[in-house]
Amino acid sequence: MDNKNFEIKKQILDKIKEYDRIIIGRHFRPDGDAVGSTMGFATILRESFPKKEVFVVNEDYSDYVAFLDDDKTVLADEAYADALFVAIDTGTSDRLSNKKYVLAKEIVKIDHHVDNIPYGDISWVEDRRSSACEMIVDFALTFKDELKVTKRAAECLFTGIATDSGRFRFSSTSGETMRLAGYLLDFGLDLETIYSNLYLEEFDYFKFQAYIFGQMKVTENGVAYIVVTREMQKEWNLSNEEASNVISLLNSIKGSIIWLAFIENPFDEEVRVRLRSRFVTINKLAEKYGGGGHECAAGATVHSAEELQCLIDDADAISRDYKANNTGWM
Ligand code: AMP
Repeated sequence: MDNKNFEIKKQILDKIKEYDRIIIGRHFRPDGDAVGSTMGFATILRESFPKKEVFVVNEDYSDYVAFLDDDKTVLADEAYADALFVAIDTGTSDRLSNKKYVLAKEIVKIDHHVDNIPYGDISWVEDRRSSACEMIVDFALTFKDELKVTKRAAECLFTGIATDSGRFRFSSTSGETMRLAGYLLDFGLDLETIYSNLYLEEFDYFKFQAYIFGQMKVTENGVAYIVVTREMQKEWNLSNEEASNVISLLNSIKGSIIWLAFIENPFDEEVRVRLRSRFVTINKLAEKYGGGGHECAAGATVHSAEELQCLIDDADAISRDYKANNTGWM
């Protein structure tokens, strides 16, 4: 087991012990890791410290991982004053879904994104980790005499690791990721049910996929991209989450080492960009367009058709240079 950062983890545990009320939050537009890590952590704390009040409080939810039984608690402002706020899986405080975190007495950050703009009174960040869920499992095992993991917590945490590591496929997946996931599996998780929840789609969704395959484009040097326009979102009655998920339909094209989805905001001129890559790094590109993220999964925003085209051109140049100077890509 990795006992790096033991001191910081100990400080976090001590802080948790100090408070009677703990409020847990995550980033907006939550994914499997955001929901899994917050719900898993809350379950562990409730089980281990039954006298404490532990809440997961956010302002938006995910249909995709609704099977993890997300907590939809709403708390009055007064409840924050003597509470500890634990922010998980959220690189920068402006991405927190629950804006009331500022009212909490102290803030702990637990995260696996690059720590560009630090926040929190105690911050434990390991950006080499596959997922925040992996860190929560590590935390629970570091203090295994004091923290109780249940099958329910294991299900949440396994789901987060599986989704954020691309089903154990991304390069962030380490031996430790597998060992920690193995520990969770030993709780008797029903993998078929977990993966069915993640993979099964309505029949209509496959028709939508066929449509998207017809619309996507690939640049000269292999950048696959699609613009999910307002009209498309209306025509196919897409939720924000469904529109955002279109990125995953572009991920398996041979020779396409960068892929982009531009999601038009139905309410203003902003276009959210989701950037993904294999082999080559794209978070610097995201930063150039006001965003950031991981080496191979990042996000940004563009504000006009010209800026959108510039981002595609920049991505194309990155792909061209990478292919010219490297071997082994596919
Ligand atoms: P997404 O495409 O929204 O799933 O984002 C992929 C990763 O990029 C996330 O894990 C975030 O850490 C990061 N990210 C997305 N959007 C932004 C942004 N506007 N600023 C900084 N980081 C972002």
